[in-house]
Amino acid sequence: AAITQELQPLVHSDPNVQNKLEEILHCLRLSGEDVIRVGDVFGEEMNRGMRDQPSSLLMENTYLPEISCSEDGEYLGLDLGGTNFRVLLVKLKDGEVVEEKFLTYDVDTETRQGEGSKLFDFLADCVSDFAHKEGVADKGLCMGFTFSFPMHQKSLHNGFLSQWTKSFSASNVVNNDVVVMLQEALERRGDVNVHVNAILNDTTGTLLQGCAMDRRTRVGLILGTGSNAAYLERADRVCHWESERHGEQEIVIDIEWGAFGDNGVIDFIKSHFDRQLDNGSLHINSFSFEKYISGLYLGELVRIVLLHLANNRLLFNGILSKEIQVKDSFLSSYVSRVEKDNVDTQSHETETLLRKFNLDFCDDDVAVIKYVCELISLRASLLVSACCARLLKQMDKPDVTIAVDGSVFKFHPRYRLWMEKFIRLLAPSHKFQLLLAEDGSGKGAGIASAIANRLEKSYH
Ligand code: BGC
Ligand code: MG
Repeated sequence: AAITQELQPLVHSDPNVQNKLEEILHCLRLSGEDVIRVGDVFGEEMNRGMRDQPSSLLMENTYLPEISCSEDGEYLGLDLGGTNFRVLLVKLKDGEVVEEKFLTYDVDTETRQGEGSKLFDFLADCVSDFAHKEGVADKGLCMGFTFSFPMHQKSLHNGFLSQWTKSFSASNVVNNDVVVMLQEALERRGDVNVHVNAILNDTTGTLLQGCAMDRRTRVGLILGTGSNAAYLERADRVCHWESERHGEQEIVIDIEWGAFGDNGVIDFIKSHFDRQLDNGSLHINSFSFEKYISGLYLGELVRIVLLHLANNRLLFNGILSKEIQVKDSFLSSYVSRVEKDNVDTQSHETETLLRKFNLDFCDDDVAVIKYVCELISLRASLLVSACCARLLKQMDKPDVTIAVDGSVFKFHPRYRLWMEKFIRLLAPSHKFQLLLAEDGSGKGAGIASAIANRLEKSYH
């Protein structure tokens, strides 16, 4: 009940319109039971995934043998997966990143969605460019590759892409080992000597960076362009992992929760707006959960709702500008800006945005847009909280830090506050804290490479 009270009521000057709006938008509201059911289903899917039973959750073993290290040294990192691609050089002291240099490169649509080998040639070009600028091209440095997509690993230094997500769809990469593809592209260039010795997901990187900041960290969470979490699971619960042979008590699992519900198990929350969003997305019927919660989709979902309301003459007097009709024109950062108006009466971002979109609007329109952004943000934070609460219960440890990174978490004015509140309500007997672990995907690449390097040496 406390959960459903969170939403501010919609106030409209025309009670008739207000009723209609409430009726149409009702499908975006989650009841307390819905939220609890999502958490329960998530738990079932996790356990099925770990036992190799059919599940929408991949529950991939990351083959990271530990999450803290005490290494020194210089390592290269690659960070591919969100909006920007980065090459990094990190310096570690006692397992902590004490210095970091990086360059950001733009990966254009043609490279993201064209021929796979071209994508990897481009990555190798950037590595070479950066390594030469930093004067480390012939040092034979080790490199960690943060590859923020679902992959199947057989060791810390290989990863077979299971499927592309977000805005990537390059051909001839699925089912291939992306470490081999990268190393081969580097060798084709032949002007840079680096050894890709670790591959990891950004959630794993965030877990590593979180652990360097706070030893209680057991979860790495990304709420950015995409969304996902990695956590420490008891090795004996995981079927496809021979714990005796390796001796590990715990293993780092990459849940790939973006795919949660791809088998229909949470369709009870799906609205016609969500279906429309999905139909317009690059990967239809795939990564359903991510489409409710992450930065690549929140803004577009708001836009779809606004168009629907205008087409029913409940907004903007039924008149739409050209600008607002452009797909993906309403960014998720705009949702954060509108939400700022919802928490701060001095803030007037919504009006500024509507002018930018060349829309004629009245006070009622502003109120409706604020309400829609609140509804969609609230639903997202409830869903993420349901899964986080379930993770706390699954691990059942006295005090857990959840390390988080990503633009939505960082810039949305109250996503974090909501999460703290809802997780507490949903898992009342589990002490936890959220920790912003900035740039876990970059720093984590360096830490993972250091861990891999030490392991390689200890085998020889
Ligand atoms: C990917 C995950 C990644 C997440 C956050 C998802 O689309 O499948 O591997 O961790 O985005 O970047
Ligand atoms: Mg990142």
